[in-house]
Amino acid sequence: MNKRSPHHAYLVRVQGIIDLSPNLRRLVLHSDELADYPHQFNGAHIKIFLARHGQTTPQLPQFSGHGFNWTKPDKKPIVRTYTIRDYDAKACTISIDFVKHGNSAPASAFAEQAQLGDMLGISSPGGPNPMLKMAARYLFAGDITALPAIESLLATIQTDACGDVVLLLPQIEDLPATLSLPAGMRLHTFYGDLSLVPALVKLVSTFAPLTCDDFAWIAGEATLVKPLRELLRTQWQLPPLRHYAVPYWRQGENEESYHAARHNFIEK
Ligand SMILES: Cc1cc2nc3c(=O)[nH]c(=O)nc-3n(C[C@H](O)[C@H](O)[C@H](O)COP(=O)(O)OP(=O)(O)OC[C@H]3O[C@@H](n4cnc5c(N)ncnc54)[C@H](O)[C@@H]3O)c2cc1C
Repeated sequence: MNKRSPHHAYLVRVQGIIDLSPNLRRLVLHSDELADYPHQFNGAHIKIFLARHGQTTPQLPQFSGHGFNWTKPDKKPIVRTYTIRDYDAKACTISIDFVKHGNSAPASAFAEQAQLGDMLGISSPGGPNPMLKMAARYLFAGDITALPAIESLLATIQTDACGDVVLLLPQIEDLPATLSLPAGMRLHTFYGDLSLVPALVKLVSTFAPLTCDDFAWIAGEATLVKPLRELLRTQWQLPPLRHYAVPYWRQGENEESYHAARHNFIEK
């Protein structure tokens, strides 16, 4: 049983570094404290807390009803949002798959430069629980930042699930060899950059419209999520309770500058 408050931050250490593909690196994070992590499901999101320049250990927040409180506000860590790819209670580890998109972005740089033993903070999980609703038919669509969640969700989906999975990945090598779909689900892949978003949206618009018995799960760069949500809501008349559509990032904006706009979009 979890003895902690549902909102807690954990100091964890990099215990494993696995290059999954040219653009995706898994960090396996360990702390004995993770034995009683309030796990909901793989695919949930968490905040990560990264040490500032000159620190080796990030400051961890206290939680209030209104978010984080910092004992030393001038030494706040860099905060980013990532997905629990895997939680292992016995090993006391959480795995996160980081997109490697350059050394000038703090979270990407942390992953690219990670050494065994490096410290970071992670929060308890957030997001809808359960993330997937039972459905007659599913649509999953996303870019490589959504791949960890999509893989986690597909690993637990019912074996007779049917529907479509649409992925935009930088390269064919980024498609996990282990990705396994129920027999009733079809995989559609696009390899390249965001210039392929219109083609992806066009493909999805040819699918039979989802209905109230169905469920759509969409995440990734904002220009991918926006037109797909528009298609679901306007053309297919899918009610908000029957889809998850979250822009995980926006090209040209960092997490700090995009955070408020993301929440405005989600709340609309
Ligand atoms: C609920 C949720 C779950 C998420 N799960 C994951 C996950 O499991 N794995 C994962 O890799 N990401 C995930 N993301 C996305 C991640 O939070 C963002 O990509 C974040 O901006 C990365 O932080 P950064 O410090 O690397 O870059 P930032 O400092 O935020 O951005 C710096 C620059 O890099 C650009 N940039 C940001 N992300 C990318 C990218 N992926 N590719 C190319 N350019 C980029 C920005 O537009 C900006 O110009 C998730 C986001 C959300 C909201």
